[in-house]
Parts: sequence; C-alpha cells; structure tokens
Amino acid sequence: MSQTKIGSGATITETTPLDAREQSFLEGVQQFVAEEVLPNTRKWEEAKAFPDDIWPKLAKCELLSMTLPRDLGGSGLSCRAYVEACRELAKGDPALSMNIAAINALCVAHFVKFANDDQRKKYLPGIVKGDIRLAWGLTEPDAGSDARRVKSFAKPIEDRPGYHHINGEKMFITNGGKAELIILIARTSETELSAFFMETDQPGFKLTDRIHTVGVCASNTVRFTMTDAVGWHTPCTFNDAISLLYRGRLGIAGMALGIAEKAFELCVDYSKQREQFNRRLADMQSVQNMIADSAMEIEAARGLLHRGASMYDRGEDVVAISSMAKLFASETANHATNRAIQIHGGRGMTFDYLVEKLWRDAKLTEIGEGCSEIQRLVISKQVLR
Ligand SMILES: Cc1cc2nc3c(=O)[nH]c(=O)nc-3n(C[C@H](O)[C@H](O)[C@H](O)COP(=O)(O)OP(=O)(O)OC[C@H]3O[C@@H](n4cnc5c(N)ncnc54)[C@H](O)[C@@H]3O)c2cc1C
Repeated sequence: MSQTKIGSGATITETTPLDAREQSFLEGVQQFVAEEVLPNTRKWEEAKAFPDDIWPKLAKCELLSMTLPRDLGGSGLSCRAYVEACRELAKGDPALSMNIAAINALCVAHFVKFANDDQRKKYLPGIVKGDIRLAWGLTEPDAGSDARRVKSFAKPIEDRPGYHHINGEKMFITNGGKAELIILIARTSETELSAFFMETDQPGFKLTDRIHTVGVCASNTVRFTMTDAVGWHTPCTFNDAISLLYRGRLGIAGMALGIAEKAFELCVDYSKQREQFNRRLADMQSVQNMIADSAMEIEAARGLLHRGASMYDRGEDVVAISSMAKLFASETANHATNRAIQIHGGRGMTFDYLVEKLWRDAKLTEIGEGCSEIQRLVISKQVLR
C-alpha cells in the first residue's frame, strides 16, 4: 500500500471514473429509488420495517452483491460505484442505504477476505439472491467506541473442528432481527478477538429487544443474547476484522452525502416557491447564505468521498481519508438538514415535509461505524504517527 501524506496538500489524487457497466448499474439504482424507495420511505418508517419483498428486489438491482468479486458470483464493482449506490439509496431512504452499506462493506467483504471455500459455498449463493440476510455484530452493552472490550466469549467445541460455543450479548445490530446469518466478533482468549458466522435459527440465539431509534427507524436494530450458540470460525485478528470499517465508513459518508443532497434539493425548491414580505425566500440574503453554506459543504464532502473511494480502488491506504470523508459528510448532512428545516420554517417541523425525517436520519451518520470523536482520533493518529 502506498503511504499518503495526510494534510500535505501535495497528494491530491485523481478520481477514478466509473465504467459503462457501473454507470448502467447506477442508472438502475436511481430508477429503483424513484419507483420503489422514495414513494415508500414514510410508510416504511411508520411500519418500522422494510417489506420482506424488498430483499429479492435489492438482489435484482445487484445491491446485495455489488462489491463481491465476479468469480465469487457478485458484480465486482468498484468502491466508487459502491459509495455512489449508497448515496443514491440515501436520497430515497437513508435507513435502506445504511443496511446496504453495512451488508456490502462489512458482511460481504468478510466473506471475500476471511471465509474459507466451504463457508463461501454454503452461504454466498443465498446471499446474492437475497435469501440469506446478513448483519454484522461488534457492539455490546459495554463495548461501543472501545470495541476491544467485547465480552462475548468463543470456546472451541471439542468434536467439531472450526466450530465454537459463544456466550454473550450484542446490541445495536442493524438488520439483526431479520438476518439469517450474523458475522460477529467474539473473544477467543483474554487478549485475542476473532470473527464467527452465526446462524440465527438455533436455540442458543435469542433476540431480546428491538431497539427503536429516532432516525433510520425502518432499520431493524436489535439486541440479542447467545447461550452456547454455535459459531463457525472465520480465522482473522481483531484488526483484520475491524479494517473492513475503512470502506464501511466511505459507505456511510456516501449515505450522509445523499441525505445532504436530498435536503438541499428540497430546500432550494421550497425557497423558490414560498413568498414572504412580497419576495421569495430565495431572494432573502439570510436564506441565500444558508443555501451557499450547504452547497459548499456538499461539494467538499463529495470531493473527499470521491477521493477516498478512488484511493481504495487503487489499493492505497484509506485509514485517514475514510474517517475524513465520513466525519465531514456526516457533519454536512446534519448541517444541511438543519438548514433545510430552517428554510421550511414551521412546515419543516411537520411530518408533511421530508426534511424533518432526513434531519433525524442524518444523526446516525455521526454515530454508526464510529462516532465523530473516534474519526477525529483516527485522523490525528495518522497525522501524528
Ligand atoms: C441505528 C444504529 C445502528 C447500528 N448498527 C450497528 C451494527 O450493525 N453493528 C454494530 O456492531 N454496531 C452498530 N451500531 C453501534 C454503533 O457503532 C455504536 O453506537 C457506536 O460505535 C458508538 O458506541 P456507543 O453507542 O456504545 O457509544 P459510546 O462508546 O458509549 O460513546 C458515547 C459518546 O462518548 C464519546 N466518546 C466515546 N469514546 C470517546 C473517545 N475515545 N474520545 C472522545 N469521545 C468519546 C462520543 O461522543 C460518543 O458518541 C449501531 C448504532 C446505531 C445507533
């Protein structure tokens, strides 16, 4: 991997272009968002669930396997295409974007990097079709930002090589209530952690809570316990497993950018329609300032995101850039949605306008896959090393 000098300004790199296949994939995603996602986003939020038939539709759009290499049955698309897909999906439904971001960058990527052939053979065909739904389980009640505090413990089963009994509890797991298979991190000794495949249809696995959140409400966020639950080991170190978060953070940055762009479009349109004091809101300088600030931040977030994804595709070190992209894009999403509500005035606070939902959904991007404070730690550590 090449070393990027962080913050020097001397390493500005080109954005890699999307090829024709990726462009046509993204056109398909845009059409899916326009026809199937945006019209239903409120309904899904109210139901606090995506419909079950969303999974084959996601599979048809290649959204469940876009990052899986072709020789493993996937589409083999670039990170640039992946982050664009997350961005497009977030413009229709941020919760769906979050699920797709995690499924690809954390779960599917785990198969690519750490699974053996038997594990791939057993699960990948069902995953690509949407029959086997996935979740990724790191967080626990006592292990959030400090992920090394995971207490779930995996003990080898004597007469079943490769299999462990796992005891413990996981919390805040996206899609955990729907998933047939969870990839989870557990402790294998006092000092070491590793990853396991856990089928949820077994007596040792018990969903204990559906966790309701103020944003991304349709996403099935859960808490579960494991009591001598059987996990299939996918040998990797804690650092290996956690390194998947670098591309994951670019996906969340894509999600955040999509939220910001959607809120921006909505408030620009609204500012041209609404009149007070015999002029449009768009003609008032304070409103123009808000629009200018959002436009600038969105442009800068897009630049960081494209740069990070292109660096990933070239095999460069993305530790710092992925944190920068996520941090900046998530703060942009929060600023832009807040301004969008301000521009909508009282209407912005009603459930009749989408901006309030985008504002609530945006908050997740400052917390999931590492809160903003952790992103700042990662960046400063890279700069100061
Ligand atoms: C909707 C949703 C979906 C999620 N999905 C998943 C999932 O699929 N899989 C999964 O494993 N996890 C998931 N998470 C968990 C998420 O990754 C954690 O919430 C996040 O990492 C923060 O951990 P925590 O909530 O325990 O907060 P804590 O670690 O308790 O931190 C609380 C706050 O303390 C501050 N803080 C913490 N550490 C530091 C520090 N070192 N320096 C400065 N300030 C600090 C920050 O302000 C932080 O926000 C999800 C969370 C949510 C809300």
